[in-house]
Amino acid sequence: MDYRPLLNASKLPDVKTTIFTTVGNLAKEHNAIDLSQGFPNFEAEEELKSLVTKAMREGHNQYAPMQGYYGLREQISEKIESLHNRKYHPESEITVTVGATEAIFTAITAFVGKGDEVIVIKPAYDCYEPAIIVNGGKPVYVQLDAPNFKIDWTAFQRKITDKTKMVIINTPHNPSGTILSKWDMEQLEAILKPTNIILLSDEVYEHIIFDEQTHESASRFPDLAQRSFVCASFGKTFHVTGWKIGYCAAPSELMAEFRKVHQFAVFCVDHPVQRALAEYLKNPSHYLDLNNFYQEKRDFFLNGIKSSKFKFKPTQGTYFQLLDYTNISLEEDEVIGKRLITQNSLASIPISSFNVNNRNDYMLRFCFAKKQETLEQAIEILCSL
Ligand code: PMP
Ligand code: GLN
Repeated sequence: MDYRPLLNASKLPDVKTTIFTTVGNLAKEHNAIDLSQGFPNFEAEEELKSLVTKAMREGHNQYAPMQGYYGLREQISEKIESLHNRKYHPESEITVTVGATEAIFTAITAFVGKGDEVIVIKPAYDCYEPAIIVNGGKPVYVQLDAPNFKIDWTAFQRKITDKTKMVIINTPHNPSGTILSKWDMEQLEAILKPTNIILLSDEVYEHIIFDEQTHESASRFPDLAQRSFVCASFGKTFHVTGWKIGYCAAPSELMAEFRKVHQFAVFCVDHPVQRALAEYLKNPSHYLDLNNFYQEKRDFFLNGIKSSKFKFKPTQGTYFQLLDYTNISLEEDEVIGKRLITQNSLASIPISSFNVNNRNDYMLRFCFAKKQETLEQAIEILCSL
């Protein structure tokens, strides 16, 4: 008999190559200006790069501690305390991870098992659901509606059952660029209070938030914090998405379980980079200045396209802007997104891929973490449509 390894064996039969890879490849093929995948096309600061070189030259080239270099965990702890007034102990409550992706996967794997339900708010970044499913869990969806993407907390509460193990939130939110307000977090807190549900709070865009608004981290709300994994990414904050380094903060009981998985998934994370980040974090302006830096880019981009046919609400956080193209076409977003690449040489992400049943919201997502000249070229194309 022929050996057929995948006959009934795939744990993720419905998972395809991610939209970021598919669109990114098409963009390269057509030499398009790439505003699709979320990464900066400008350099990280020299100071940070030299700190990594210095750490390597000083010989920090062997395994780091499993939980992360202690000096980095101390800096993370101080940062969270100064911004959100909650103390996470560096020894037992902070772990350095391979990007936020590993933090998310590890937290889900540590707690979600067969038959457990996890509430996922859609549109959602694409790494949550495969992690739930591969562990035997079931994503339960709360679909938000364009253009405001507001959570109806009554509808949310109706999704909670005695099987709900975890809730995943993401603020600032990819792809909509909305943020959860203090009021939203209080609603969530009140709903979760009588339960044992764990909260996974994806806060990778914590330092990219505009118009003087505040990032309402789950760590600010005592009842949420005691049940939360707060996940973050240095890739987003320091323009180094390729370094794949992030962290996770959670109360010690939760973190102990998390580390049982982390130590066998990766054991530890790139050592010289951790040493460098520990130094770099000592200057808070390195992350506090990011809001203004990206707000200028957002405003430049939106000002440039204000005479175009696209409709938009200025993004409140993240480096993504959604544009509604209904004045141009009523086609599926994947169709118009593809044509923009092949005919107009501009790449974006169709957000249907983040929605339940790939619902079309007639919107494309553009990443404005780009050099001025790249944004200018994109603006010219968008205004010509
Ligand atoms: N969550 C969201 C919402 C993201 O946009 C990203 C970025 N890719 C991640 C998690 C993963 O972050 P990292 O690259 O640090 O793994
Ligand atoms: N977070 C990035 C985005 O939303 C994508 C990272 C990836 O390709 N997995 O564009």
